[in-house]
Amino acid sequence: MEFHRIDAPGRINLEEISPEPPEEVKKHEAKARFDVLNDELFGLQDLMWGARTHSVLMVLQGRDAAGKDGAVKHVVGALNPRGVRVTSFGVPSEKEKRHDFLWRIHQHTPGAGEVAIFNRSHYEDVLVVRVNKLAPRPIWKERYRLINAFEETLVSGNCIVLKYFLHITEEEQKERLLEREKEPTDAWKLNVEDWRERDQWDEFTAANEDAIGKCASKRAPWFVVPANAKWYRNLVIAESLAAALRPFRKQWRKTLDETGKIGRRDLKEWRAAHGET
Ligand code: ADP
Repeated sequence: MEFHRIDAPGRINLEEISPEPPEEVKKHEAKARFDVLNDELFGLQDLMWGARTHSVLMVLQGRDAAGKDGAVKHVVGALNPRGVRVTSFGVPSEKEKRHDFLWRIHQHTPGAGEVAIFNRSHYEDVLVVRVNKLAPRPIWKERYRLINAFEETLVSGNCIVLKYFLHITEEEQKERLLEREKEPTDAWKLNVEDWRERDQWDEFTAANEDAIGKCASKRAPWFVVPANAKWYRNLVIAESLAAALRPFRKQWRKTLDETGKIGRRDLKEWRAAHGET
């Protein structure tokens, strides 16, 4: 499957990437493939959990109603909750504001064996902060470099860093926001801010393009996910996650086999020492 995988710095033009699923991908086939991938992901996560040599950080970014919550639900649904932690990052608290912008983020990065999913992230500090002028320009401009260094630190610690921009059209967002308003069970999600941000659509586009273009690398790639259709969004995320984990399967398996051998040997020695058979 083709992804919009951005793994080198450069200029990004979101207009060149369609938020719609490709013609040739059919919904029922995508759903069937998603189920297969879920089984595979469960197995891969289990190996990673046991091997405890790597971790995964999935960063979910996107405009309001782009489907970050839905993506979390579907990704987590595929995994064993034992090894998954989801963190949502909202407006920084007073305490968080007294620290550098990465302080609150670093505490939630995954430990060996774990998958961490960020619903919004350190990228807000070059998105909403930039567009709404919450910090002076020299401050947020410096942050691209700091983010790259931070992510490089994580990758050096064997964290597999994957960043997703859920790409929707202005029209799709409007429909989803209006839908929320009609649906009594979704009304709690209503927020004037979502409509206010629509006036700044282009500013957010530019900020997202810079975040992606300036912070993309082979070791910490971005994926621009066509997200107008939820089923395709879910498929792309699952497919890209599986593609990132698959190369480690053998290595994790080997680590587990070796751990198993040591366990067996220890048990044998213990039994011999205790006169057990
Ligand atoms: P969501 O909109 O993701 O469902 P919330 O309603 O809690 O969740 O909104 C989170 C809000 O926090 C967003 O408007 C986002 O722009 C804001 N936010 C997140 N990180 C920061 C930050 N570092 N500085 C300022 N605002 C932030």
